[in-house]
Amino acid sequence: MPRFGKRSRENLSTCHKDLQKVFNEVIKHVDCSVLEGHRDERTQEKLFSEGKTKVHYPMGRHNSKPSRAVDVVPYPVDWNDRERFHLFSGFVLGLARGMGITLRWGGDWNMNFEVDDNKFDDFPHFELR
Ligand SMILES: [Zn+2]
Repeated sequence: MPRFGKRSRENLSTCHKDLQKVFNEVIKHVDCSVLEGHRDERTQEKLFSEGKTKVHYPMGRHNSKPSRAVDVVPYPVDWNDRERFHLFSGFVLGLARGMGITLRWGGDWNMNFEVDDNKFDDFPHFELR
């Protein structure tokens, strides 16, 4: 059974308890890494200037404490493997829903269950509604 590394556990600990619940279950089935939970002002503005987020601090869901968003990637990560991200997200979203938790994923912002109409892909990103 896969387990989170120290860094992933630390990052996940900055997240809302529902996100912790979901990903502590996900890791039992699929190896993955938690890249980021809470994000401070400096990091948020840096990512904004790089075009990696659309919102300024403190409007992002990563900016709240505890964080209402988390970035998680299947391990080992291959950033060019879109299909693997999609498979992973389907697993995460379904598992969360089974726990009564609805997540929004960065590959389907409008939550219409279509991925071709997604204008800003942020595949690692999952957030609470
Ligand atoms: Zn994110």
